[in-house]
Amino acid sequence: MAESAQSQEVVIPGGDGAALVARAGQLLEIIDVEGEQVADFIAFSERSQSEWLSTTHTRSTTLRLNIEVGDILQSNWRNSMFEVVQDDVGTHDVITSMCDARRYTIDYGVTGHRSCRTNLTQAFEPWGIADWQIPDPFNLFQNAPIRPDRTFGNERPTSRPGDKIVLRVLMDVLVGVSACPQDLNPCNGYAPSPIRVRLDGQAT
Ligand SMILES: [Zn+2]
Repeated sequence: MAESAQSQEVVIPGGDGAALVARAGQLLEIIDVEGEQVADFIAFSERSQSEWLSTTHTRSTTLRLNIEVGDILQSNWRNSMFEVVQDDVGTHDVITSMCDARRYTIDYGVTGHRSCRTNLTQAFEPWGIADWQIPDPFNLFQNAPIRPDRTFGNERPTSRPGDKIVLRVLMDVLVGVSACPQDLNPCNGYAPSPIRVRLDGQAT
């Protein structure tokens, strides 16, 4: 039988990451504390690390390059992992990879820059999940407008302080969130800031 669901709250400093366990039935809130901050969001099934939250499978079902209230976010096994139940922002990226050390070296000539991949690899270390296993993220609050010619941009997020997205957890999962450290383009308003993650304690 599932363990009782505990309420939890984690404040992730800008540029840092965290992972936590969430139980089916809990509500997961991801809050942009100061605004204009992307939260790279990934998840694994708790029962098997070969099942993860998949942007590709979710897009294939929703046939949309965004997520909306009512959408079911799917795993790579096509199981339902989360339902979007509230969204204050309405603009998210479900296409691009997370930032990694190579991105900063190759595209910006910067070595040793923190990255979402480093953050999430460190956060999942206690579960024995390696760097190469980190899946593509849902880039919550990322503003990558898609143009008529099907190219897309990379602009400041439209999220305001305190804006959040709320997901209903549909299976027991390990959740990872990175408050993206990218400060060399507009995607975090050039100033990474905190993300608050809150899990309610009431399984419904
Ligand atoms: Zn990032």
